[in-house]
Amino acid sequence: MSLDITKIRPEFDDIFMELAKNLAQRSHCIKAQVGAVLTKDTRIISIGYNGPPAGTHNCDEEFPEAGCPRDAKGSCSLALHAEQNAILFAVKNGSNIEGATLFVTLAPCIACARVIYTMKISKVIFLHSYAAYKGIGKEEGVEFLRTFGVEVEQYFK
Ligand SMILES: [Zn+2]
Ligand SMILES: [Zn+2]
Repeated sequence: MSLDITKIRPEFDDIFMELAKNLAQRSHCIKAQVGAVLTKDTRIISIGYNGPPAGTHNCDEEFPEAGCPRDAKGSCSLALHAEQNAILFAVKNGSNIEGATLFVTLAPCIACARVIYTMKISKVIFLHSYAAYKGIGKEEGVEFLRTFGVEVEQYFK
């Protein structure tokens, strides 16, 4: 077997964020597509993407013209966020997620930040800024997490 020196050996961070990006593309939501991967060390505990609970609505099929029904903040009012779906699946199946690292393609909103903190997830790595996406001045979810000791990093590659 020859050694291919040009072959790039991906880091786990890259693998998990690539997976989060791929998962985002599965989202049925029209407004935003977000993917999340919940990990511990080098293993995957759970995955999720944003959308209404399974068995309820598919925004893109039901509201192709009007778009998702919005809440007061302009988000899809029917969807669970990617982080929530990943966490809920893990908990529903009895996984211990304390100390886990969450990879997510969009920085957590304040509601998800509260859940992430409560579940004792110790680190969040996000791809895109939530503040920039929402056009708001403050990265409120990230600030909340950092204030209460959760490590948060933006992924740059
Ligand atoms: Zn939607
Ligand atoms: Zn959220």
